[in-house]
Amino acid sequence: MNIIFLGAPGAGKGTQAEKVSAHCGIPTISTGAIIRTAIKTGTPMGLAAKAYAESGALVPDEIVIGIIKERLAEDDCKKGFILDGFPRTVVQAEALDRMGVRIDLVISIEVRDEVIVDRMSGRRCCEKCGASYHVKFNPSKDGVTCDKDGTVLSLRKDDKPEVVKERLETYHKQTEPIKAYYEAAGKLQTVDGEVSVDDVTAAVYSVIDGIH
Ligand code: AMP
Repeated sequence: MNIIFLGAPGAGKGTQAEKVSAHCGIPTISTGAIIRTAIKTGTPMGLAAKAYAESGALVPDEIVIGIIKERLAEDDCKKGFILDGFPRTVVQAEALDRMGVRIDLVISIEVRDEVIVDRMSGRRCCEKCGASYHVKFNPSKDGVTCDKDGTVLSLRKDDKPEVVKERLETYHKQTEPIKAYYEAAGKLQTVDGEVSVDDVTAAVYSVIDGIH
């Protein structure tokens, strides 16, 4: 099954994507995580993306479309995949269609801006593997290090309040129109993201079960 998770930054799509990924045995592809790794290791793509990502703007379509094209060609995507953070513009959604990539379901996790801003200050991230936690709503086992690889968790540069505001504006202007695109294709399902993580997960599974 090929699934897209949509939602504002901090809506919890990364957390839900990881859960479904583990449950269904299919990879999660997060363009944000790929970009952060490239920035950290200083690759040419990372250098090109750095200023955009750190200011809350979108990285140009041609760069992220190239990333996705390469990643989807890998063997582990053959039995299905979850996209977290891609597409983020209608141009990117159209590019997926042009590549002939079949999308079965688009799940939009809905959270109001004021709730997002509140949540972001508690978000913590593993810089090594990209896993995302929250000090209150989704803490790691010891609250300090990543459950998967033991790296000490940190606050992402782009989770600072002024950058979050910018990212929300970018989301409403450039990403939200994608909902109409997938609604017209009969693929969009929305889920309330303002309930507990487990309740969001239950709603996500019921949407996934509904398309079998
Ligand atoms: P995320 O972790 O998904 O919030 O992504 C972090 C940052 O990476 C975003 O604020 C963008 O600057 C960049 N980024 C990630 N995915 C995309 C995308 N599909 N299109 C453009 N920029 C992206």
